[in-house]
Amino acid sequence: MRPEVGPLKILVTVKLVPDTNADKRIDPATKRLVRTGVETVLNPFDEYAIEAALQLKEKLNDGSTVTIVSMTSPSGKEIVRKALAMGADDAVMLCDDAVAGSDLWGTAVALAATIKTLDADLVITGTQSTDAISGDLPGMLAEKLGIPGLTYARKLDVADGRVRVERETETGYMTVSAALPALVSVTKSANEPRYPSLKGIMGAKKKEIKQLAVADLGLTVAVGTDGAKAQLTDLATPPARAKGQTIAAPDPAAGAAAIVQFLKERKFL
Ligand SMILES: Cc1cc2nc3c(=O)[nH]c(=O)nc-3n(C[C@H](O)[C@H](O)[C@H](O)COP(=O)(O)OP(=O)(O)OC[C@H]3O[C@@H](n4cnc5c(N)ncnc54)[C@H](O)[C@@H]3O)c2cc1C
Repeated sequence: MRPEVGPLKILVTVKLVPDTNADKRIDPATKRLVRTGVETVLNPFDEYAIEAALQLKEKLNDGSTVTIVSMTSPSGKEIVRKALAMGADDAVMLCDDAVAGSDLWGTAVALAATIKTLDADLVITGTQSTDAISGDLPGMLAEKLGIPGLTYARKLDVADGRVRVERETETGYMTVSAALPALVSVTKSANEPRYPSLKGIMGAKKKEIKQLAVADLGLTVAVGTDGAKAQLTDLATPPARAKGQTIAAPDPAAGAAAIVQFLKERKFL
């Protein structure tokens, strides 16, 4: 990573996830989500990270660049192109059967190794995915990269070689800053992601999407199934919900009284 201040190399991590409305199925043999035949989209939370990176690039207006980084299968290329259509300059995909079955640790190790090959000044992530939803990857990635991790940012800015964020808390926000290189995860209140314009969609067709394999990363540890430190031991569907209760009452007042009684019996009131 580069210590000096100048045009920034901004990386945005993007996960490809099954469409929230798609029918999802777990393969009972592998206990993995079946991804074939399911519509895949950019993780919606990552659109805020892309938008934050683009806004920063436009504000700096000094030749700073935005690169998309995704660990995914080669079939995700056209979805990664949507991020390029929004305005990112280029993309790097880590595609290798050797990363299949990576747990959080393996994902963080493999993504960090990918990012280390790219000489980034600022890494921007979403706060969570919509499929595995751990929200843990940004912190783990910052640790594996050995850089400060500023999470849950609703606002970010860069000046004088430092990134400054407003970090959301339960009761408000705190202002935090760190020297670059650094990692920032961006919340949904940071911005309103833009739609790709027709010009952006056409331009994206010519932008470079580089594919890397594990052999390009110089990893000395196993990732994927072989390196996983967590093991998925069992899966179960939630029990079916009991049928709701209909309260029949002769008039609104009696109905309200019956509902109050119902809630009191369950100690909600
Ligand atoms: C034993 C085991 C096996 C698994 N096998 C697989 C598998 O074969 N295939 C699979 O897809 N998942 C697999 N998973 C799940 C996988 O480990 C998680 O999806 C991954 O670690 C990311 O976690 P998350 O989605 O909770 O990220 P979160 O922490 O919720 O995501 C936060 C942010 O991190 C970034 N991010 C997350 N994942 C990626 C990515 N892949 N590329 C770029 N940026 C990313 C995004 O910016 C995202 O907004 C497995 C998990 C376990 C425990």
